[in-house]
Amino acid sequence: MHEMSIIESLLDAVRAELVKYPGAQVTVVRVRVGALRLVVPDVMESCYAAATLGTPLEGSRLELEAVAATARCPQCQREFAVQEQWFECPKCQAVGGELLTGQELDLMNIELEETGAVATA
Ligand SMILES: [Zn+2]
Repeated sequence: MHEMSIIESLLDAVRAELVKYPGAQVTVVRVRVGALRLVVPDVMESCYAAATLGTPLEGSRLELEAVAATARCPQCQREFAVQEQWFECPKCQAVGGELLTGQELDLMNIELEETGAVATA
């Protein structure tokens, strides 16, 4: 279950950010996840709940924003949606497109009780 290792690294990033806000209570953690990460949102959420149990983050919510996978054709430069990780240009059928999006795993922001959202770098 690779979701758990993803959650662990996200939580490291969250904790590093929270060092600046001692005593803050987290309500929501927002994350952008690319389609090629192949995570199951339900599994991510239950892993998050399990990993935060008994920690200061217990009771906070994980919100996922899905990012579709796109690539750019090496020949005609067309940008296209990647289907099933097959990088074939729909216009000229060239393969080996350059991946533009789909690998994201970015901590977007952390919402704290009362003090509002905290933008992360
Ligand atoms: Zn093309």
